[in-house]
Amino acid sequence: MSFTLAIVGRPNVGKSTLFNRLVGKKLALVDDRPGVTRDRREGEAHLGDLTFRIVDTAGLEEADPASLEGRMRAQTETAIADADAILFMIDARVGLTPADRAFASLVRKSGKPTILVANKSEGRGGEAGRLEAFALGLGDPIPLSAEHGEGLSELYDAVLDAL
Ligand code: GDP
Ligand code: MG
Repeated sequence: MSFTLAIVGRPNVGKSTLFNRLVGKKLALVDDRPGVTRDRREGEAHLGDLTFRIVDTAGLEEADPASLEGRMRAQTETAIADADAILFMIDARVGLTPADRAFASLVRKSGKPTILVANKSEGRGGEAGRLEAFALGLGDPIPLSAEHGEGLSELYDAVLDAL
């Protein structure tokens, strides 16, 4: 259990939903409003026969738009520094945003092994966004639905490679 995977990405892509699914408890607050994970959550993730430490990021302690971006960035940088590997998540239904590119550049600079995940890929409607994600330079995006539990075997293979 010494291996730590940090879930990184802009608010509202589904990081806490995946965290909750892998940890199996409602430890992280999931909300429709962007950025509602109030602090960093850590837990023991279970994926197939793998067990590892997982960190959910992008917390905001209070609504203060002036320093919002700075705090998210600082928290994410700390989580990246402490992790052995990064799971970088985008919203396949929305496609790439400037915030995705900003977070991705932090991840690339870290040089840590990174699993790129295009979440919300259930059904149709995620394909264009997933293809956009190739441009992040973080490898092939894995289509996932954290909410519906789809794509977990592909995620398993990617985590196994990163371990
Ligand atoms: P976070 O801010 O990145 O932690 O995102 P959350 O986990 O709080 O999720 C933000 C919103 O996206 C919530 O309304 C979730 O229900 C929704 N969501 C999460 N995963 C999926 C998914 O796989 N598909 C769809 N359609 N919605 C999802
Ligand atoms: Mg969250």
